[in-house]
Amino acid sequence: MSNNTPITVAHGDGIGPEIMEATLNIITAAGANLDIETIEVGEQVYLRGNVAGIEPSAWDSLRRTKVFLKAPITTPQGGGYKSLNVATRKTLGLYANVRPCVSYHPYVSTKHPVMDVVIIRENEEDLYAGIEYRQTQDVYQCLKLISRPGSEKIIRYAFDYAVANNRKKVTVFMKDNIMKMTDGLFHKVFDEIAKEYPQIENEAWIVDIGAAKMANTPEAFDVIVMENLYGDILSDVAAQITGSVGLAGSANIGENFAMFEAIHGSAPRRAGQNLANPSGLLLGAVMMLNHIGQSDIATKVHNAWLKTMEDGIHTYDIFKEGISKEKVGTKEFAKAVIERVGEKPVKLKAVEYMSVPRVSTAKVATKSIRQNKDLVGVDVYLDFSTGSAEDLGELLKKVSSNELILAFISNRGVNVWPDGHPETFCTEHWRCRFISSKNDLTINNSNIIELLEKINDAGFDFIKTENLYNFNGEPGYSKDS
Ligand code: NAD
Repeated sequence: MSNNTPITVAHGDGIGPEIMEATLNIITAAGANLDIETIEVGEQVYLRGNVAGIEPSAWDSLRRTKVFLKAPITTPQGGGYKSLNVATRKTLGLYANVRPCVSYHPYVSTKHPVMDVVIIRENEEDLYAGIEYRQTQDVYQCLKLISRPGSEKIIRYAFDYAVANNRKKVTVFMKDNIMKMTDGLFHKVFDEIAKEYPQIENEAWIVDIGAAKMANTPEAFDVIVMENLYGDILSDVAAQITGSVGLAGSANIGENFAMFEAIHGSAPRRAGQNLANPSGLLLGAVMMLNHIGQSDIATKVHNAWLKTMEDGIHTYDIFKEGISKEKVGTKEFAKAVIERVGEKPVKLKAVEYMSVPRVSTAKVATKSIRQNKDLVGVDVYLDFSTGSAEDLGELLKKVSSNELILAFISNRGVNVWPDGHPETFCTEHWRCRFISSKNDLTINNSNIIELLEKINDAGFDFIKTENLYNFNGEPGYSKDS
């Protein structure tokens, strides 16, 4: 039996094949034990008419190996092609995107010489569920979904990562002063899970000021965990301010699968010229070696790479007269790293990896004790363009049923009836809140159907409803606007 770990490799497009060859040469020279299955993804697959950019047989390989080292690909111009990254993340359940952002001062110019931040981005939820609607002529909606198990998984992953990688602090960025329920849940789960890791410092920042602080003083942060959208934006900001996007690798981790890559694209203009810097993909491969338990090899490769950087052997993209010693091509850079396997950097901080523990499904969602859920009202959204808020309020008062009475009307989150201000700009998209008139508050779905029939009979165009529930007596909806 071979001790090798099977992995799936895609050589990609543009500079992809060159940086993949360099990466594989370096890690195998350092002693990585791998059985490589090669698959084709990207441009040629798209152009053969496969809109996903990946053949069904490639999924079979990924199901077998569960580990994917992927070079960047080119998505052809024009519509209709689906993002391979999004498809891979969703299909394989890769819920955590891990992106270490490190500056290599003084070898790579940067405004932030002591930056060493790891961004951990939730990859499956939030506004990226892709659930969008055009509800009226002028109003569009995108649904933001945050779940307790999704939040638990990513936040626990962030703390486990911190423990395994000898990190001191985990910070959460969110905006729960505005999104009290969705971001509020993310923050609450963070506080709960942080208690299980007393050895790790924890802190929370509102994302706007947190982002400003990260861009200005990145040395104040260690591991930062974020929902999908904030993480998407801020992981690019963090990589950019290290001084070079070309040096960052990234891991996408799931319960059963993982994908590793560089964060940059296929740089087609640099392709085939032995120019590209393989460092981003190589550092992605270092994360892969850790993931498959070959942390000793990961340590060797990373330290050899740091020594190469420190020795001033640089590709064109980071070469700087006075700092760099030698400008090299992709192949020569790989050769220089291989020559340094076994060495450690002298000025830059050497790495020493331990394996990163996987998050077990058993640990997730343990706290979800079922609560009493009572239906207490309904928000009915109307497309109404033939009158003012006052007109709508007067008309709707007449359609209230016995069980449900009109409480207020809001427009894009601003209360406009009763007691609205004539200055408020209103679209044709109205939210009309009906609440229970009963003493015990609870209603049922039939009461809502009756109300909707009345609204329909009165000639209104209702475009959506949202049920209002109390959970153990606590409102499960934003209350006032
Ligand atoms: P890019 O990252 O390919 O290039 C941006 C700039 O950085 C270019 O000037 C390029 O020459 C330089 N660069 C990037 N990587 C480099 C490296 N390793 N060494 C030296 N220089 C490097 O971004 P782009 O030009 O916007 O996109 C090109 C293609 O890549 C597009 O088709 C895009 O869809 C695709 N892309 C793929 C991925 C992926 O597969 N994960 C990610 C981003 C972009």
